[in-house]
Amino acid sequence: MTQAEATSRTGKRVLLAKPRGYCAGVDRAVQTVEEALKLYGAPIYVRKQIVHNRHVVRTLEAQGAIFVEENEEVPEGATVIFSAHGVAPEVYEQAKTRSLKAIDATCPLVTKVHQEAKRFAAEDYDILLIGHEGHEEVIGTSGEAPEHIQLVDGPEAADTITVRDPDKVVWLSQTTLSVDETLETVARLRKRLPMLQSPPSDDICYATSNRQHVVKQIAPECDVMIVVGSCNSSNSVRLVEVALDAGSRAGHLVDFAHEIDDAWLAGARTVGLTSGASVPEELVEEVLAHLAERGFTDVDEVTTANERLTFSLPQELKRDMRAAAAARG
Ligand code: SF4
Repeated sequence: MTQAEATSRTGKRVLLAKPRGYCAGVDRAVQTVEEALKLYGAPIYVRKQIVHNRHVVRTLEAQGAIFVEENEEVPEGATVIFSAHGVAPEVYEQAKTRSLKAIDATCPLVTKVHQEAKRFAAEDYDILLIGHEGHEEVIGTSGEAPEHIQLVDGPEAADTITVRDPDKVVWLSQTTLSVDETLETVARLRKRLPMLQSPPSDDICYATSNRQHVVKQIAPECDVMIVVGSCNSSNSVRLVEVALDAGSRAGHLVDFAHEIDDAWLAGARTVGLTSGASVPEELVEEVLAHLAERGFTDVDEVTTANERLTFSLPQELKRDMRAAAAARG
């Protein structure tokens, strides 16, 4: 039986979103740990999860990475890598105090938001940082100028914000928010603060926007949207919300294919499938195989953007890699 015959018999299909999965910042952060392990040997310490994905963390642990919550857990003089989400300046200071060799895998697009925060704080602006309370990225960005930054966690929070000078206030944001919800929050802020300035360029990153855009395109046709990603991955959680808002009848977040409940697929004809920016493609392939076993053999990939951005590895790591290569002759 051909695949077309199988499809026509089952009438079940998958709409596969593209872009999905790894973004440039995650790819760089994971490569940073892998290259550091090759260059310096295990163990390599990583402060916080390098990216918010259980599979990635487990895989790197198996190769010799040790994930810690704080610098104090790293032995003096050891190598520590800071995660893609960024850190507050005090974390670099702590590393220096403990004579740690720090490698910074902060995504350059998060660093851009840090720079904006520093610049506006230097000009004495009140900075309204739209983001999720307790998220590592928000903690890191806030740490650049704690006396100038206030967190705005969602549209409702906009109604209670007070600032020193309503003519000197700017909003910035976490990189992995819902584009639509952020616009709503900004609109509510602007009702009370008409002179509110916008960031010089979008803080929500290209990868977050692109993954949400394609999900919005396919969601109206989907009986269920499956998002591969971890529950602490902000951009992955947002994809489920975006799918539901855009018309998918149901939406679920799974780390692995085996977490898919057959009840979710009962009666479904079209399943949408995507993955968060920290998810390796092999996990999506496993979900596709899982769905095919249940009759979803027809896979249509829907592409709304082609991503080509890449980031080079951190300077401090590249310098040591060059030195090692030179020593080898
Ligand atoms: S999701 Fe965006 S900000 Fe976060 S690591 Fe990827 S490219 Fe960078």
